[in-house]
Order: sequence, then C-alpha cells, then structure tokens
Amino acid sequence: MEIRFLGGASLVGSLSMALTDGPRKMLFDYGMTPTDPPEYPLPPPPHLDMAFFTHAHLDHIGMAPIIGRNGTKVVTTSMTGQLAELMLEDAMKVARLEGYPSRYSQRDLRQLLDNIRMVEPQGVTRVNGAEIALTPAGHVPGATMFLYRGSKDVLFTGDVQTHPSHLVGEAKTLPCDVLVMESTYADREHPNRGATEDSFCQAVENVVDRGGQVIVPAFAMGRSQEVMMILADKGFEIWMDGMARAVNDIYLKNPSALRDSRAFRRALSKVRIVEDPRDRFEAQRYADVIVTPSGMLDGGPALHYLGNIARDPQSAVFLTGYQVDGSNGHELVEKGTLTVGGVTIRPTCQVKSFDFSAHAGHAELLELARASHPKKIVLMHGDKRELLKADLEKDFEVILPGNGDTISI
Ligand SMILES: [Zn+2]
Repeated sequence: MEIRFLGGASLVGSLSMALTDGPRKMLFDYGMTPTDPPEYPLPPPPHLDMAFFTHAHLDHIGMAPIIGRNGTKVVTTSMTGQLAELMLEDAMKVARLEGYPSRYSQRDLRQLLDNIRMVEPQGVTRVNGAEIALTPAGHVPGATMFLYRGSKDVLFTGDVQTHPSHLVGEAKTLPCDVLVMESTYADREHPNRGATEDSFCQAVENVVDRGGQVIVPAFAMGRSQEVMMILADKGFEIWMDGMARAVNDIYLKNPSALRDSRAFRRALSKVRIVEDPRDRFEAQRYADVIVTPSGMLDGGPALHYLGNIARDPQSAVFLTGYQVDGSNGHELVEKGTLTVGGVTIRPTCQVKSFDFSAHAGHAELLELARASHPKKIVLMHGDKRELLKADLEKDFEVILPGNGDTISI
C-alpha cells in the first residue's frame, strides 16, 4: 500500500493525498490555497477509482473540479456536496475578480457535481469491493473522516476537532492500522473555550456600551455561524454579510449535521442578513456587531466595514481565527497596520484576537491518535509536525511525508 501527498503535507493549505492499494487508486481531498497568488497541488494520478472529500473548505476541495473533469466518482456527505457547489462557484468569481486564470471551467464544475455520490455522515460505502466508513470529524457541519478498509485499514482525518462547538458535535475516531492525521495546531493548545466565549461577549458589550461598533471578520462557512450562535442571546443587533444566507439555507436543509438545529434556527431568527447594498448601508449605521468575510481581511465586505470604523477608537475589530503569515489580519495583529489597494493605514480602533479555532490542539491530537490504536501514524497539514512526532514516537511509528514523495505504509 502506498501514499503520495500532492499538496498540504507540511503546510496548512492545498491538501491532497493519493492512496494506492494493489489495483485500486483513490484520492482524498483536492484543495487549493486561496492566497495571492493562489497555490495548487500536484496533478492527480490518472485513472482514479474514486475520490473522497472531507469537507467544503477551499484548502480541501478548491481543485475538485479537475477530478470531475475525468469523470471520477466522488464520495462526500450531503452537506459537503451542497456547500462545495457554493464555495467553488464563489472561488471562480474571486479568481475572475483578482485576474487569475481559473484552473477549471464551469463545465468541469458541473461534471464534478454530477459525479458526487452524497452519503450519510456515519454511513458505509463500497469502492471496487473495498469498504469505506465515514465518521464525524467535528470541525464544521458536514465534515467527515474516511476509514478505508483494504489490505490495511487507513483513517484519513481531514480537519478535525475533538470538542463540540455550538454548531457541530465532536470528532468520533475509529480503530485503524494507519492513521493519517492533520496537525494544524501541533505545538499549540487552545485556551478554555467557555472562558474565551465569556471574554468575547464582555468585550463586545464594552464596545457597544461606549457607542462603538464591532466588526468580526469570519469565514462565511462555519465560523460566521458559530460567532452568531455565541452572540445571539445577548441582546445585540447583529448583522451577517457575505454568503451567509446561502450557507445558512444549506445548514437548515441538513439539520442532522448540526449539533442542535433548533438552537441554530433560534439564533438565526435573531440576526439580520445583508442582501443588497442598501442593507450594507443600514448595517453600517445601526449594527452593534457585523460578522463578515473574509476571515483574514484579505478581501470581501470586511474591508469595506473596517474602512468605516478604522479611525474610531470607540469601535473594534475582533479576529476569531488563525491569521496566516502574510495576510492582512496577521499584519494588523503583529504590526497594527492594514494594506488595502496598495495603501497602508494604521487603524486606531481596538484590535483583539479570540481563539475560536475549529481544530484540535496538540494534546487533543495526541488523545485522538491514542484512541485510534494505529500501528503507524502519518502526520500532514501542519508546519510544526516534528513537535507532534516527538510526542507520538514513543508509542508509534510516525511518518512525516513531503509533497510528491511516494511512501509505503
Ligand atoms: Zn477546514
């Protein structure tokens, strides 16, 4: 049995792994990194039997239409299949706006969508006689891990979170021979979630009390809805911008993928959605809190809103996610500056970060690994894998593949 990473082995971004077991060839995720310029994985192997997509973030599905072009059957959950269409349509739009040639066509995308076999998040499916089991990955609604039962049992985690959030339940691992595990938060632990939520709500209240407005940059899929659920009962006027309406509708259509669909529906009834430019004007004027993409301030309506409050010391921008080195969000946190359209400004509003990560921390990854009882562990999708390896290799054989390497497992 062999694996080969086509991308994302030693970095968080453009993830893809090819798995060969005798005559069977499979692909797990095929992402792109939506940086400026974007990054892409190596080309997929020819004659794939089947591809599997863990969830609809672009670093896992961003290049999926290339797989569709070849007519390969794709397996994912219903939620991820529906979100993938939305995310990929939007990615094509962004590529057009930013002047990057799209690597695939509308026709490729349509073909991909026609070839998707949507399965239950805890179901079992068959590939050329081999069994594939799905098990929840936490992370975002619809996210799944895949257990391939072939000459060895291989569990591919995708992105994983081992604690429940408001939006989605926790990951549930399965026993396997080879565990292929993400390591985004290797060497880092998250602060207590409840305490972070309390201090976030308090900080929002302080801003609102002094007459300011809070901008919360967040991914349109997952993080925006989580922030909405944290704040919904606190009596603030909350607006959501970006693709929120479309994502919310897909969440509502797949209630079993949510931890508490009634709580989600309740929260949704208390927020207002920006649907046209007039709403944007109203949000700007009346909102206490605006939750809006992009999460790293590299584009989207967040920059528009931020331009408005940047010089108001009563207002604030509260970042809620990981800010990649080189992003505007990273620049704002590290240097207090923001570059928009080639112009660098120094905002005087309050800037603060809160850790609402949807990834397992270092200790949680160790726990997940031990609970899976593997013989071998392959670490991927992280830039500090060595530190996780050091803690795991007392008990397991640990492999750190590079992109393009073919490794026997
Ligand atoms: Zn993800």
